[in-house]
Amino acid sequence: MPLHTIVALDTDFDSARFSAVCIRHGGQRLHFIALAPRPVDAGQLPEPWRKQWPPFVPGLHRMLSRDGLVTLDLLIGDVDAGLAQLSARIDEIWLAAVPSSLKVLARLMADGARLQAAQLDDGQRAALQKAGFVFDDSRVRAVFQRRAAGPALAGKPERRAIVIGAGLAGAAACERLAARGWQVTLVERHAQPASEASGNLAGIFMPQLSKDDNVATRLVRAAYLYALRHWQSLGGVGTGYEGEQCGVLQLARDAQHAQVQRQIAATALPPPEFARWLEAPEASTMLGAPAPHGAWWFAQGGWARPSSVCAAMLDACGSLLTRRFSRSAVSLQREQHEWQVRDGDGSLIAQAPTVILAAGNGAVLLAQAASLPLDAVRGQVTHLAQGSLPELPFVLCREAYMTPAHQGIVCVGATYDADGDVSLRAASQQENIGKVADILQVAPFDAPLAGRTGFRCVAPDRLPLAGALPDPSVPGRCERLRDLPRWPGLFGLLGYASRGLIWAPLAAELLVCQLEGEPLPVEVQLAEALDPGRFLLRERRRNGTH
Ligand SMILES: Cc1cc2nc3c(=O)[nH]c(=O)nc-3n(C[C@H](O)[C@H](O)[C@H](O)COP(=O)(O)OP(=O)(O)OC[C@H]3O[C@@H](n4cnc5c(N)ncnc54)[C@H](O)[C@@H]3O)c2cc1C
Repeated sequence: MPLHTIVALDTDFDSARFSAVCIRHGGQRLHFIALAPRPVDAGQLPEPWRKQWPPFVPGLHRMLSRDGLVTLDLLIGDVDAGLAQLSARIDEIWLAAVPSSLKVLARLMADGARLQAAQLDDGQRAALQKAGFVFDDSRVRAVFQRRAAGPALAGKPERRAIVIGAGLAGAAACERLAARGWQVTLVERHAQPASEASGNLAGIFMPQLSKDDNVATRLVRAAYLYALRHWQSLGGVGTGYEGEQCGVLQLARDAQHAQVQRQIAATALPPPEFARWLEAPEASTMLGAPAPHGAWWFAQGGWARPSSVCAAMLDACGSLLTRRFSRSAVSLQREQHEWQVRDGDGSLIAQAPTVILAAGNGAVLLAQAASLPLDAVRGQVTHLAQGSLPELPFVLCREAYMTPAHQGIVCVGATYDADGDVSLRAASQQENIGKVADILQVAPFDAPLAGRTGFRCVAPDRLPLAGALPDPSVPGRCERLRDLPRWPGLFGLLGYASRGLIWAPLAAELLVCQLEGEPLPVEVQLAEALDPGRFLLRERRRNGTH
């Protein structure tokens, strides 16, 4: 079904107009992008939208209607800057204000796209005409006529893919692909999904704040808020799968750290439901112990069991998913526009035009991904019997984290180690207990050795890799990401480090939008920060490789 993309450049989001256009496009796919420089009142919108409505924090916030036909992107922030960060092919645009860069606007317009602009003065109309808009007699409606050839549109791909790896990354990829009607074969070397890094009893989810609101912070915020909305569609935390949106209390480490956090609270002014800074008295009351430097309270944060999130995402695929478990992908060969995935004996496991590598630390064992700079970082989580520590109804973190008890177990962790030891170590357990005891100001204690070790898959900049994989064997000068040679039909969802729960849904949505040629769910700058080719680009720029 073709997608109709509308962009609204309003000074205020017009919910009545949005509702009307949804009705007009009933039964068809609609992608509505609203640029919102000011807080938006969603009070007039139907409940499914209100329930997903984001806090007023900068960035692109993607929401989806229940039937999956309408996507609403709310891009909060400056309108001109926001427009320049869109990656979309616009079929219709409503202009309340004329953006300062009409070149940017023209780049985004599809040939024949329609424009509606009330209150234009003659100068603005002339500028729009110069940019390629041809006005009708009403003088408020125009059609865009492209003069130079626009960027070539990628043809629609054949909707068959193989996903390698059934952890959070792979399960989310399957779910997003199936939501767009793709047939997916999921290859996993274990008998069950979530058997490696995604096999911990609990993972925590929370946002990140920084003084300069840097790219990593913006990405974590986008991923966290997208995950919270996406999880609602899976039934919600604690109902669709195990977990609790119980809030996260993140204590400041020391006086200096607290001072920086106070400055962030004063300048970023995050809405309280997103992040609230607590001074020492309030933080101490919540903790039930002295918290002399204060804390952040993330009311919508919490913990979830990754294996049950994976199960919910795989269940959502229905009959579009084929599982090939207990099979190890050892080689990938491209034959006549299809990838063949083979095991160690050379037997064919699956074949499709598109392959998505979501194999965590296993990815670099495949020849095409061998040069990706990914490191395995050991982590040990300790499982303590309920009652071993003072009980809290929320997640606590500082140098270590502690989850509320679930089925009698409290998870405390996790260590960061450079070695490859898979066994549980007493020293790692003491480290975990020591850190959390220090936070709670109780004496460190011995407990029976219990927990789990896993290996995070970490890129040098600690950001994920989401997109087409580069092919370093093809030489050539590269100045921009789009110049890099890529493997045809081979993509990666890798490097989720310590935040796999929240990276998985957004990175999968980003990749599937790239495959489908749909508007991206994050700003261009953020999508580029996740490009798997960024390391090769840096290397080629540095070495001037030709
Ligand atoms: C100790 C620890 C604590 C953590 N705490 C948190 C937390 O609190 N919050 C949070 O969000 N994240 C946390 N993480 C990170 C999170 O667990 C990971 O980011 C996430 O699980 C990564 O998911 P993945 O799908 O990329 O990798 P994995 O879960 O490792 O999945 C990769 C899958 O690919 C399969 N595979 C690999 N190679 C092949 C092959 N050749 N053929 C077939 N199958 C293959 C593997 O068997 C595996 O199942 C933690 C991680 C660790 C280790």
